[in-house]
Amino acid sequence: MPAAFHVPSTIVTGAGASLELPAQLKRLGVRSALLVTDRHFAQNGLAERFVDLLERDGIAVSVFSDVQPDPTDRNARDGLQAFRESRAEAIVALGGGSPIDAGKAIALLAANPEPLSQYAGYHKVPHASAPLLAIPTTAGTGSEVTRVAVITDTERDVKMMILDTHLLPKVALVDFELSLSMPPALTAHVGVDTLTHAIEAYVSRKANGMTDPIALSCIRLVAEHLETAYNEPGNRTAREAMALAACQGGMAFSNSSVCLVHGMSRPLGALFHLAHGLSNAVLLPTITRFSLPGAEERYATVARVMGYASAADSDEAAARALAEGLESLNARLGITRLRDCKGMEAGRFEALLEKMAHDALASGSPQSNPVVPTAEEIVGLYRQVW
Ligand code: NAD
Repeated sequence: MPAAFHVPSTIVTGAGASLELPAQLKRLGVRSALLVTDRHFAQNGLAERFVDLLERDGIAVSVFSDVQPDPTDRNARDGLQAFRESRAEAIVALGGGSPIDAGKAIALLAANPEPLSQYAGYHKVPHASAPLLAIPTTAGTGSEVTRVAVITDTERDVKMMILDTHLLPKVALVDFELSLSMPPALTAHVGVDTLTHAIEAYVSRKANGMTDPIALSCIRLVAEHLETAYNEPGNRTAREAMALAACQGGMAFSNSSVCLVHGMSRPLGALFHLAHGLSNAVLLPTITRFSLPGAEERYATVARVMGYASAADSDEAAARALAEGLESLNARLGITRLRDCKGMEAGRFEALLEKMAHDALASGSPQSNPVVPTAEEIVGLYRQVW
């Protein structure tokens, strides 16, 4: 089957890449921008630094910083209002996946009618969005290079996945220096998110010849550098490698797909406000074990790339070693079981299992998994990770 490959037309990587923002805006003919970020960056001075940078170059800039982690349709609506009031010509999203996804939703709504929920799913956006430039600060989601936005529908308590080529940023400025301030727990969560993107892209039924090498490169970088970034937050080599890995993981899954881990992870984010990377991380070993029979050879390759198995091991043994290796990696990164995560409560979890299984299947992601589960199997898997 033919497979298309979509990424931003400009991706700048390396120390100081974010300082290219004024030049990139000018290249696009943009004279005014709305900077979309979150409160953390509004308070710690980073947003202000970018405002100064743009103003020094004669580019008018307004700031919208009311994006919450796991952004909502309300954040997008408020941001759209700020965009219209500022009369900006483009959006600059600065932050982790949350501000970048909010920026994508605002850019989409600037050119397409509300409500946002009508675009949930695949390829439903009729008109090109307003121009968007993305500057990631976590090395995790890869949203800076994906054609995906994840926005919570506050009426239905569902994390909507919107996938459309119109969501692609025009420019991604991947500056690992902005990720140096991440504390260890955040580094771990977003790092396993990156790993999950690449593993799922590689084992997906939509994997293709363009995404495979990028996914494997991402997996290798994570295996070699995530634990160093976690243990030594100031290690520039590890941070640079993880920023590249996140970008590659995003390119891989955006042009292949994510699978069951992401399908089951989003309901945990929507209903229990579990951080996205953490919910992926707690699911990854168990879902890998469940999915092994559908793509044993591919999981075995992942195990060998990660150093959990050798060429001498059979595919079956290597694939099994992967599930075990991912479990030990979680333990070394301080990632606990689901029941020990903040905000999880056994009674509510049991009561919501059917809804979570339904929402996971409705997202479309589990259908790309090497083994496609039934709703009952998803309920069983949630109980296993508990
Ligand atoms: P985030 O953007 O929600 O940020 C989490 C917290 O970390 C925030 O408080 C933020 O201020 C802080 N933070 C960010 N960068 C920091 C830094 N350098 N130093 C210190 N603190 C920092 O986290 P995220 O994991 O990057 O994004 C999660 C969101 O992205 C979820 O909603 C998830 O569903 C979505 N997502 C989107 C895609 C996509 O392709 N669009 C892919 C995966 C996940």
